Amino acid sequence: MAESTKIEWTDTTWNVVTGCTEVSPGCDNCYAKTFAERWRGTAGHHFENGFDITLRPERLALPLKWRKPRRVFVNSMSDLFHKDIPDEFIARVFATMSLTPQHTYQILTKRHGRMRALLGNPEFEKQVDYELLHFPPFADPKLIRRSWPLPKPGWPLPNVWLGVSVEDQKRADLRIPALVDTPAAVRFLSCEPLLGPVDLTEWMPSISPMPAEQAPATWAEWTWPDWVPAKVRTQVEEFWTEYWGRSPRHWISDMHQQGAPPFGARLTMGDGFGHKPDQVVGRYVHCWNNIGRLVLDDDPDREFAYTSFGTRDRARARGIDWVIAGGESGHGARAMHPDWARSLRDQTTAAAVPFFLKQWGEWGPAPFIVRVCDPDVGWQGTEEELATAKADSEARGATHVHTGNWLEKDGERTYWLHEIGHKPWSLERCALPEGTAAIRRWGKKRAGRELDGRTWDETPKAVRS
Ligand code: SF4
Repeated sequence: MAESTKIEWTDTTWNVVTGCTEVSPGCDNCYAKTFAERWRGTAGHHFENGFDITLRPERLALPLKWRKPRRVFVNSMSDLFHKDIPDEFIARVFATMSLTPQHTYQILTKRHGRMRALLGNPEFEKQVDYELLHFPPFADPKLIRRSWPLPKPGWPLPNVWLGVSVEDQKRADLRIPALVDTPAAVRFLSCEPLLGPVDLTEWMPSISPMPAEQAPATWAEWTWPDWVPAKVRTQVEEFWTEYWGRSPRHWISDMHQQGAPPFGARLTMGDGFGHKPDQVVGRYVHCWNNIGRLVLDDDPDREFAYTSFGTRDRARARGIDWVIAGGESGHGARAMHPDWARSLRDQTTAAAVPFFLKQWGEWGPAPFIVRVCDPDVGWQGTEEELATAKADSEARGATHVHTGNWLEKDGERTYWLHEIGHKPWSLERCALPEGTAAIRRWGKKRAGRELDGRTWDETPKAVRS
């Protein structure tokens, strides 16, 4: 039984396990737990055991029956790397995924440590091979249409995407290094519910030294970093020459259009343009199209190599291939500050990483203009102007003003969000802290998923070898 889903970034859920336990603040309002616990003790119900970990071996072979390719979210009602799920069972899940390359599997976890330990261990791959040969459903000729023995389509499986949940910076710092260190075809982040601002630049560096619109219009105004050799500077400047109406701005735009590796990133790339060139390590400088130079720090005599990049080089140059963001829904939902979502959009855009805004959740932006006056003096306009300002903000639907600030406690830096419960016009009499945003409790459906006038539905294409 395929389970239909309203989750915007997938087609189907495949719950081979249900039940879980909380690990971090992102779990506080776990929708799966709330749903499952409703049925605890109801004899015969699928969730008779509530949210206790329950293996569902009868579902292991289900995807073998699905002919049409689909994106499959594995365990939306659990966490595949929970400690109570045996390695052998997880190996069977991977065996099914290897037998169904027509589907794309999306595995999301908060148990980054076990994921890395298991999938980084060559013994696990052997265990998957063992399950392919010995688990009865995989020998059923009605289900398996390909010849036997089945070669796996490579390892890591090219149709399996691995992701970690990142609700705040602390969880980013903990989980992303483990994800980046785990073999995977595609790595993604689910920043939902987003509970604080998150800086991902360490794993998702910007492609260019600055946005194209901030770059100078002439090379005379451009400053190269010291590590770029004079010959490379000349090659770039002579191609993007002012003589042909080109400039540093065009060069930077080209980096983004081509999805080039990040400027200055230390990478392993081909030495020259031949078929299967030797690999060298150096710092990347974009030239034009898919061509660049690799500055060889370890070989100053040679200075740099000529190189080019393809889809796989692009993917390898980044730790992260996809970022999903979203606010929380349901009773007691915590608000996502619009600036946190904007920041993720801007970071992904700068790094040419696809961005998907899944939902605002319960709370969403309520555009209106807060009229601030001098807090020491008070309102300086006429009574009529004050009445108009009140009516304007209320007509636009704002009910709260949303702000936050950093607090230090026990050496830990936490971002605290405040919902100021006044009508927004009452804030005209005080200075608004920087970072204030107007939001309203719209409900998930009405809040929608537009950010600054558009939806963000980008998905990854690159596959890492
Ligand atoms: S890890 Fe996921 S499924 Fe498990 S309790 Fe947390 S939010 Fe729920």
